[in-house]
Amino acid sequence: MKTSTLLLSFIFPVMLTGALVAQQGDDVAQRARKLHFSSLVLDTHIDVTPKLQQKDWSFAEEHSTGHIDLPRMKKGGLNGLFFSIYMSGRVTGPKAVNDAIERIAAVHKLAEDMPGEVALCLTADDIRKARRERKIAALMGMEGGHMINNSLATLRMFSQLGIRYLTLTHSVNTDWADSSGDQPKHNGLTDFGRDVVRELNRLGVMVDISHVADKTFWDALAVSRAPMIASHSSCRAISSHPRNMTDEMIKALAAKGGVIQINYLDSFIDEELNQYSRKSRPMMTELMQKYPGMENRQKRMDEVAKVLGPAPKVGWEKIVEHIDHAVKLVGVDHVGLGSDFDGGSMPVGMDDCTHMPKITEALLRKGYSEDDIRKILGENTVRLLADVERVSIIMRTERK
Ligand SMILES: [Zn+2]
Repeated sequence: MKTSTLLLSFIFPVMLTGALVAQQGDDVAQRARKLHFSSLVLDTHIDVTPKLQQKDWSFAEEHSTGHIDLPRMKKGGLNGLFFSIYMSGRVTGPKAVNDAIERIAAVHKLAEDMPGEVALCLTADDIRKARRERKIAALMGMEGGHMINNSLATLRMFSQLGIRYLTLTHSVNTDWADSSGDQPKHNGLTDFGRDVVRELNRLGVMVDISHVADKTFWDALAVSRAPMIASHSSCRAISSHPRNMTDEMIKALAAKGGVIQINYLDSFIDEELNQYSRKSRPMMTELMQKYPGMENRQKRMDEVAKVLGPAPKVGWEKIVEHIDHAVKLVGVDHVGLGSDFDGGSMPVGMDDCTHMPKITEALLRKGYSEDDIRKILGENTVRLLADVERVSIIMRTERK
């Protein structure tokens, strides 16, 4: 055999295999796009809502800052979201109620202003209808029990206005529930806190346990007749951030039919960055005096980096690691997406919602079936909401 022939006999199969791999790669990429853009993709926690209240910001226009707006949702195949009715847990009393109503009104106005594009959804059926009509399914989740101002009547009215989950606490304790971001005060839920959970069940509003202290989670789980949601939390087995859930918590949530919606924030999903953030927190707080506000966050981080070195970079693939961990733990029916877009710093490669198809492609490459991926992208959330509605109907009938 001549040297050139010998060489060819080696090279040709290698070239062929390479071509096949490339061909397969393209197929997967194409299948992923088709799957992603034909699926209900529903994110259960997005913090864009305060921007809706700004006169100089339009949801209909594409922006170069932030993580989300309508044009970018379309590019990312994101067709449903829970607008977070967010405010600091330090705002309490009538002001919290008033500010929450104003924020809710901004979501209502958005749906009124864009009837052809955005549908305000209150039920699982509404979400399906919005999807059929190719509209964005817009729902609302209230991020913090402080906004009900210790009043079940106020909670009922928020439900009437369209709130479909209540996060029992934000980053500080309420008068009736302990938060993961605060010192324990009530040993979980108080008696009134248990009443709030029961009333949420009766109303058909999902009980959200993201942000709560571990004991609050266990108390809520014991009381709730309906499955619960963790609207934006990741896995503590991968990153020990207190906002994430332990494997035991995820298992218990799933055993009652609940869903963990994986949070994308870089400091939540990566242990090294989580540790760095912990170390830098006192410095960051002190620097707030000198450089206040979100707009100066980078300046504060630059100052911290001078002392601690640069913050570790986290890749978007870590999101998929958390999804896969939870799926391996409790099965594919109990995992979804709760990005926290516009709520903090995203990992590299998930710079805004246009990058969401990457998650679908990564899951497909991991060997997930198309049906399973659809469940994670949004179907699990719709099923959960329908289950919560069913419990509500039963409880309302019992009272008659
Ligand atoms: Zn949050």
